[in-house]
Amino acid sequence: MKDIATPNRTKGILEKYGFSFKKSLGQNFLIDTNVLNRIVDFAEMSSETAAIEIGPGIGALTEQLAKRAKKVIAFEIDQRLLPILGETLEPYDNVKIIHSDVLKANVKQVVEEEFEKDQDIMVVANLPYYVTTPILFKLLEEQLPIRGIVVMLQKEVADRIAAAPGTKDYGSLSIALQYYTEAETVMIVPRTVFVPQPNVDSAVIRLTKREKPAVMVQDEAFFFEVVRASFAQRRKTLMNNLVNNLQGIPKDKELLEQTLQEAGIDPKRRGETLTIEEFGRLSDALYNQKRNYHSA
Ligand code: SAM
Repeated sequence: MKDIATPNRTKGILEKYGFSFKKSLGQNFLIDTNVLNRIVDFAEMSSETAAIEIGPGIGALTEQLAKRAKKVIAFEIDQRLLPILGETLEPYDNVKIIHSDVLKANVKQVVEEEFEKDQDIMVVANLPYYVTTPILFKLLEEQLPIRGIVVMLQKEVADRIAAAPGTKDYGSLSIALQYYTEAETVMIVPRTVFVPQPNVDSAVIRLTKREKPAVMVQDEAFFFEVVRASFAQRRKTLMNNLVNNLQGIPKDKELLEQTLQEAGIDPKRRGETLTIEEFGRLSDALYNQKRNYHSA
């Protein structure tokens, strides 16, 4: 039998079940086995690797993962796809579909129950584009024992994630993901390999989890508050953004200027020029000041 992702087989499956795409669920299915194989290649899996997929659709990527991985667990929100997946993935006995919104699922518990301890685990998916960033944040913030993530997403989001300081795409999303992972765009994907074709260009990004975060900071939550505040208004200087948008610090420009200088950062700079290490130093300096301010 031909692979699921061939245009004719996909068409046949969709017709057989009278399936209508739900735009609201980000349903754009892949119909190119070469693209799928390259995605799986980027995940660098062995026959001992377990894969977690989000949104298997009719099983196009799931099938390619099942051929190479030890086990595949896939979360699918759309109940209408379950009987279809039951048929298309019937030849593979190493796949389990979980009917659930991945954002509500207890992924950590599933990992504990389904995979062996110390198993090599990769997340591989063609993500539903309406929830790309919440899914990535969930996977990273929950500290799942995964090696990394290889996902298809909007090219514009991939550009923001992998951006370097000083570029127009660099922002709090770049820092948040680069804090946990090494991020690289590995493939640009044309619209023509999907049914229906999406309105935006796509890219595949590989996020390799760091053993330790990119910077060690005194307080992680405060670090992210500093980052968010620094990017609140892009045309403003770092100083102005911090004064206007960071809660809990003294609104004394002179004192703030001194703190920035102590951290080795020119107060006239803009947030988008700071490296993640500089944000780390800034966050620690401000954190100390905040503590002094509150204990005074
Ligand atoms: N993997 C398939 C492929 O590549 O052809 C389908 C990818 S399609 C872009 C996204 C899939 O995610 C759809 O099957 C959709 O129903 C599913 N989905 C959307 N939101 C979801 C959520 N919150 N949790 C789990 N699956 C979701």
